[in-house]
Amino acid sequence: MAENIALNLEQSFGELNDCVVVTDRNRKILFVNKALEDLLKVSRDDLIGTTTENFFADKSKFEELGELYNSPNEQRHRKAYSFDMITGEGDLIPVEVVSAPLFDADHQLTGILFFARDQSERIALETRAKDIAQTLEDALEAISEGFAIYDTEDKLVICNDNYREIYAPSAPAMYPGNDFEAILRYGLERDQYDTGSLSKEEWLANRLDHHKSADGSVIEQSLSDGRWLRISETKTRNGGTAGIRADITEMKTAKAQAESAYRDLSLIADIISCSITEVDLDGRCVFINKKGCEWFDGTLEELVGTRLRERLSWKEREQVRHCFQKSYGGQRASEEICFHFPDGITRECQFESNPRYDEAGNVCGLVVMIVDITDKKKTERTLAELYAITSTNELCYEDKIAEILRLGCEHLDLPCGIISHVIDDHYSVTHAHCLGSELEPGMTFPLADTYCTLTLQADRPLATTHASQSEFSKHPCYQAFKLETYIGAPLLVDGEVYGTINFNAPERRKRPFTAADIQITRQFADWVGHEIARDRDHNALMQAKVNLERIASVDDLTGILNRRAFLEAANKEIQRFRRSKRPFTAVMIDIDNFKLINDRNGHSVGDEVLEKFTSIIGSALRTVDVFGRVGGEEFCMILHNTSMEEAMLVSERLREKIVNECQFDDIEQTITCSMGLAVVVREDVEFSTLMQRADMALYNAKSTGRNKCVEYSSGLDVIFAD
Ligand code: GH3
Ligand code: MG
Ligand code: MG
Repeated sequence: MAENIALNLEQSFGELNDCVVVTDRNRKILFVNKALEDLLKVSRDDLIGTTTENFFADKSKFEELGELYNSPNEQRHRKAYSFDMITGEGDLIPVEVVSAPLFDADHQLTGILFFARDQSERIALETRAKDIAQTLEDALEAISEGFAIYDTEDKLVICNDNYREIYAPSAPAMYPGNDFEAILRYGLERDQYDTGSLSKEEWLANRLDHHKSADGSVIEQSLSDGRWLRISETKTRNGGTAGIRADITEMKTAKAQAESAYRDLSLIADIISCSITEVDLDGRCVFINKKGCEWFDGTLEELVGTRLRERLSWKEREQVRHCFQKSYGGQRASEEICFHFPDGITRECQFESNPRYDEAGNVCGLVVMIVDITDKKKTERTLAELYAITSTNELCYEDKIAEILRLGCEHLDLPCGIISHVIDDHYSVTHAHCLGSELEPGMTFPLADTYCTLTLQADRPLATTHASQSEFSKHPCYQAFKLETYIGAPLLVDGEVYGTINFNAPERRKRPFTAADIQITRQFADWVGHEIARDRDHNALMQAKVNLERIASVDDLTGILNRRAFLEAANKEIQRFRRSKRPFTAVMIDIDNFKLINDRNGHSVGDEVLEKFTSIIGSALRTVDVFGRVGGEEFCMILHNTSMEEAMLVSERLREKIVNECQFDDIEQTITCSMGLAVVVREDVEFSTLMQRADMALYNAKSTGRNKCVEYSSGLDVIFAD
């Protein structure tokens, strides 16, 4: 019977994948199938007849299963038991066991049929799944974005802490199983979102639309606290939705800043008065600012992508190429280049190229700046010329001023330059450099009628290139002269206002005045001021010298030349004689018995006599004659271009004139004088010799009766020698 059963069982369960064990009611094993043999690695022969207790690693589980035998009817529910079976080799294998009681015809329990399933694989899978879930959870927490998964019914499956933090006001609603819409509404009620111009319902509808499409597209969401989020949602494989939110507030701010910086930069690049270009490694333009477009005479579209170099002359191109080469090698290159730009204007420029680097630190192009220094160079040249004019010794004051005015007109490109001297309300032109104008030095105007009155009031340089459209148009000067262009500066001489320097034109100037123009006009004013001061000093010095010389050469009492000055003049007469061979005569004069006059009338009366005496003779002489006091009451005159005969006539006339005119009421005696004459005869004669001879003649006159004129003759030498 038992064998039959065993055969039947073998037929039913022998090849079954699940393990099958059949016991009798005493828990003795009646049958095991091959699957169990394999699982426990024990042969069925060793098992049959033993109790199942050996199977249990935990004996209490064996006890627990005892209930199946005690109340078999309860077991119809087929309760599943999980426990670890122990193999023949001592390994533990987790199994799940279900049982079926076996009854005989009298419904008595005869045994139990067990199905045991190896759970190790399932448990391993479950453990792995758990691990994966944990890893996933860890990963979710590790990512800096907010992450959430919603299932097919749009209920929250999982989200990370960042998700809760990003939407902090909605966090309480973020529990698994809650609706996406419910979570949104929760946040909306707490004014979490910046809905902009939309109502909350409109906003919600939009948001849900995107969420439902979950096509991976990115939207930016603004929160009411000013933060910005970037949301990307995609469908999961099972039809749920996975979404990532990243806080992009910083990026948004940085982007806004960068955009505004870029706007500012391009604005600066455009208003800046130099050309800025960027070229690639091939020398092609990638960027060019407004000025650059203007100079290279093209639009941005026309110029970008081309080699700007090719628009220049051969020589300029070579200079640029030289700089480019240096900068492609990583160096800054700078050179002064005179460009003939495609817009037709020649500009002296400061050319500068700088290498541009990519992120890897390699030169990826050049930034090129071209600064127009035409004005600067012109100013430099003008200043150098101004310096040359003012520092040279070869030009006199008048020439210097004329040169300065010419230079100013040239520099400012104006036809008329004026220097004025202002005294009270009068404006007088002292110097003028005026092409095609009748203005000339010496002309005067009421100060109030000139632009310069404004310049002097302002006490600084003033300029206009369109007087008719400015304050100047109301000025009488505009009415009188219709000067459209004017630039003027006050002239100070030794700190005092002297007048003005100004340049003007009846027409409008092509270009407005620059700060440099104002500056250079101020410079002109400074220099002219110095020149005037220097000229004044020079004149004052000259006057002082003249005064000094006069003081040094004039006799105090009589006002005629003193001895030193007379001898100087006499020497000149000698030199003149050597050149012209025209004779002159020297006449020594001595008042007769002068001592007596002094003795009788006093010294001061004697002085009066000397004064009157010289005045009578002096006024009778010609301006070409020289008359000097060579001793106390001794005088000498040089009769210019006069022979002895003529000189004798003049001397006699003078002697008589003294007798007749040199009279004083309180002097009894007749005032007379004696004269000795000597004519120059030879080229080599010295004046001292001539004077000696005249003296000898005078001596002769004295000794032969006084009040007479005696001519020198060689015979007198003998007398004198005696
Ligand atoms: P003689 O006819 O010989 O010339 O007689 P004299 O008296 O004029 O003699 P002398 O020429 O030698 O005399 C010169 C005098 O003139 C001497 C001196 O006192 C006087 N004398 C010289 N200089 C001045 C002066 O500046 N003022 C006055 N009042 N007298 C002077
Ligand atoms: Mg004398
Ligand atoms: Mg005398």
